Amino acid sequence: MSTNPVIYQFHGGMQLEHHKQLSLGQPLQQASLADEIIIPLNQHIGEANQALVKVGDEVSAGQILAETSELVSAPVHAPCTGRITAIEPRPIAHPSGQQADCFILQPTAGLATIESWDNPPLADSSKQELLEIIRAAGIVGLGGAVFPTAAKLETADNYPIETLIINGAECEPYITCDDILMQTRPALVIRGIQYLQRILQPQRTLIGIEDNKPTAIKAMREALSEAALEHTEVVSIPSLYPSGSEKQLIKILTGQEVHSGQLAFEIGALSQNTGTCAAIAQAVDQNQALTSRIVTVTGPGVNNPGNWLTPLGTPFSHLIELAGGYKVAQPKLIMGGPMMGLELNDDRIPVVKATNCILVLDQADQPQAQPCVRCGRCTEVCPAKLLPQQLYWYSRARQFETMEKYHLFDCIECGCCSAVCPSHIPLVQYYRYAKSEIWEQQRKTYKSDRSRKRHEFREARLERQKQRDEERRRLKREALAKKKAAQQQTGDKPDKPKEQTVDAVQAALLRVKARKQQQDAERKNISNLTPEQQRQIDEADARRQKMKQEDS
Ligand code: SF4
Ligand code: SF4
Repeated sequence: MSTNPVIYQFHGGMQLEHHKQLSLGQPLQQASLADEIIIPLNQHIGEANQALVKVGDEVSAGQILAETSELVSAPVHAPCTGRITAIEPRPIAHPSGQQADCFILQPTAGLATIESWDNPPLADSSKQELLEIIRAAGIVGLGGAVFPTAAKLETADNYPIETLIINGAECEPYITCDDILMQTRPALVIRGIQYLQRILQPQRTLIGIEDNKPTAIKAMREALSEAALEHTEVVSIPSLYPSGSEKQLIKILTGQEVHSGQLAFEIGALSQNTGTCAAIAQAVDQNQALTSRIVTVTGPGVNNPGNWLTPLGTPFSHLIELAGGYKVAQPKLIMGGPMMGLELNDDRIPVVKATNCILVLDQADQPQAQPCVRCGRCTEVCPAKLLPQQLYWYSRARQFETMEKYHLFDCIECGCCSAVCPSHIPLVQYYRYAKSEIWEQQRKTYKSDRSRKRHEFREARLERQKQRDEERRRLKREALAKKKAAQQQTGDKPDKPKEQTVDAVQAALLRVKARKQQQDAERKNISNLTPEQQRQIDEADARRQKMKQEDS
């Protein structure tokens, strides 16, 4: 029987209704292929991908569709065989309803059947080979961060990683995709952890799972015991939101604080989500790119909530149909959970690597915001130890610089402040808005700095060219003066005067002209003519002359 190690408590947080059973009522299912698959070119944080295929191309399942050679990037692949019918902007998961370039793929064959993963022997790939496999498979953090996994692991290489943390907390209400993964495929997750251990060589590995998932905890402990992994433990942690946020989970499991502006690496910790571990195992053991993921479709707004193994690019509307369709007249659609999710206004949006859950609430249940009553509850629950109420006022006043001084960027957007607010103020929306305004300002400053630097560089280049030309002219003048002085000293004839030089040039030109006329005459073969030929030419010349006179 496993015993739990010591665990620690983070500041703030709150107990929430879980609503997890809603989607755990039926087993994990394979989603069918939609008629049209929509694949955004970029599904990660980092550098933009370039399209490798064009409209009309036939592509096969797993083929790379877009990538870039930059480190912080992740390629995207075709989830099925089909034809690219368009590459065009389509709505993607963004609160503004923003569009982004997408491949539109029309499937021409069914989903490739992926043989079930039967715990094959551990691959003997080296650390570098594993990193390359992870990069080429397009794996990103599947907990929602979508940071390219290979880039994160390579960056961590500069720091000694003492603790590898596997995040199976899944603390947001309603979402159960990690829970069902750990219940149904625990050995796959453990295999991914083994590959991560080979890359990072941590001293210990802690798998944190909230205690509201007893079946997952049991399954993971059994798989761990079967794999006989040393220095690795499944840790049951209290269900207290937001235990699944990186900083909070590190605090719970190690007692260490990741301070403002610090990275987890810097205190010797690195975390990966359970879904990411499974994707790594599939890439290494089955040569399978990240082309599908488990998505929870749930909430009071759908008829049959559940979890579906879904090809990336599947429109939300297709999954909602698989879940029995909408149950309410005014559905409120959220990608993610009710606390940190993105509210969307279009169900044609495709599932991407970041889509862990499609939550459908009833718009009619949503309360109206009222003025702040300064109760201070938002401050009590904030796990980042911020002053949410102050941030709210500064955001309304557009005092973004002041918000930065109040550590706006330490806000993990957990939504605790909004959830406890008796006035139902959507506080997180104000912080997201402020962050995007600051980023936009930084982008503009960066752009204008870059064009200023380009201008300065051009001016400097022209100035250098001017100086070089002047120097060349000065040296020429000095050389001429020296030559003249030497000629005067030795009594040599000075160089010809300029007029004489011009005359000589003209004479040479005349000689060239005469030679050319002679060559032309020879080329026209008009020498050694017979009298009859000469007569015909003379007549033709006379005719031409006459025509010229008539024209004039
Ligand atoms: S919880 Fe809401 S009402 Fe209370 S201080 Fe914070 S913002 Fe104001
Ligand atoms: S959303 Fe930000 S400000 Fe609000 S409780 Fe969470 S971390 Fe604190």
